[in-house]
Amino acid sequence: MALRFEILGRFNRARAAQLTLPHFVCQTPLFMPVGTQGTIKGLATNQLEEIGCQIILGNTYHLALRPTSELIDELGGLHQFMNWPRALLTDSGGFQMVSLLHLADITEKGVTFQSPVDGKPMLLTPEESIQIQNRIGADIIMALDDVVKTTITGPRIEEAMYRTLRWIDRCIAAHQRPHEQNLFGIVQGGLDPVLRDICVRGLVDRNLPGYAIGGLAGGESKDSFWRVVAQCTAALPEDKPRYVMGVGYPLDIVVCSALGADMYDCVYPTRTARFGTALVPEGVLKLKHNAMADDARPIDPTCACMVCRTYSRAYIHCLVTKDAMGSQLLSYHNLYYMMKLSRDLHTSIIEGRFPEFVCNFLRIMVYFFTSFTQIGPFSVYILYLLIGGIFPILCHCFEDTISPSILLLWEKKVPVELKLSSVVALFPKGDVPEWVCNAMEVAGIDISSCCSPFSSSQD
Ligand SMILES: [Zn+2]
Repeated sequence: MALRFEILGRFNRARAAQLTLPHFVCQTPLFMPVGTQGTIKGLATNQLEEIGCQIILGNTYHLALRPTSELIDELGGLHQFMNWPRALLTDSGGFQMVSLLHLADITEKGVTFQSPVDGKPMLLTPEESIQIQNRIGADIIMALDDVVKTTITGPRIEEAMYRTLRWIDRCIAAHQRPHEQNLFGIVQGGLDPVLRDICVRGLVDRNLPGYAIGGLAGGESKDSFWRVVAQCTAALPEDKPRYVMGVGYPLDIVVCSALGADMYDCVYPTRTARFGTALVPEGVLKLKHNAMADDARPIDPTCACMVCRTYSRAYIHCLVTKDAMGSQLLSYHNLYYMMKLSRDLHTSIIEGRFPEFVCNFLRIMVYFFTSFTQIGPFSVYILYLLIGGIFPILCHCFEDTISPSILLLWEKKVPVELKLSSVVALFPKGDVPEWVCNAMEVAGIDISSCCSPFSSSQD
């Protein structure tokens, strides 16, 4: 085992911990950005340090294809290759194959697939996945698991879960560097509580340095999602890190942390940046929207990141469709947002004010709608429809007949705050979703002050 996990503070099931890895001492809960080929698109490693990234995720499948794990090994491992002094985590490569390659097939031996380089059939076994990850040299390596979509039902889920358990022994046996790299096992079992339970017990028996909850964030309902997380975190050992794979959205991270999870990874913050979307406390801000063209404010006036201190929304709006710089700046801000969220979760748990933090986090997201409803819900709704919906559609339909000056007048007359369609509040109906309220009840976090006035679930 090459890690130390010390819990520094708790609030019911939530925990704030210090995770000491060979290359970095991390504070949890933490979010790991995904660097496909040893890079987070458009950001230099010194910027990632500046943002506060603690662990970066590398895709074994992509790295094994190019530059190849042998070359990375020859050049001193991935840390040295990408000049990243902090911690790294690599996945097993299996998920990428199954999701990217239509011709991937899973047998007891491993994952067979057609090489995207020369079309030849290839096989990734549990042993080979670990050998490749041993050569890459990340602080945390992941066991090869049999991945099935959560939306699939029937005997395939059970087969995949038992195979994942058989493969973990092959992974453990193949692991050559257990004193430098930590092998995490992955809990599978779909949405079936019985299968999840068997898998958790099986993995815990192997006494691994850490555990991941896999097979989620694949299109299942939010209610099924949090229930699986809650079940697994309750059954996993207290003194080992718990990693929810492929998660996620800021709200998901807050909910999972309340339920006792510690680590997350997702392509969302950087992918959505490339589509011109910024993460803000209210939800998301669409920088491509015309309302941004003359908006002199930073993306998020409360954000202390380099981008928000330096550039206006108008400037980024101008870049976002035409220049790679636009998505780089947005990626920077979005990752900063995720790192700040991680830090806020950590400190609020340690300082014993986790419920207040969660309430504030949720309240800001419903703020937009509720602030308008206070001056008469119905009239505001009609006004909103006219300004945000019907009027632009009408203008669009009669583009040739309506004088451009009328359009210009409309643009100038409407105050920026009313151009709601550029800011998408996360809870547009004005209430915290029922699944969040239910999950928080299980987590023992009292958020009734922001659930009850708006939520129909409290009836
Ligand atoms: Zn910012």
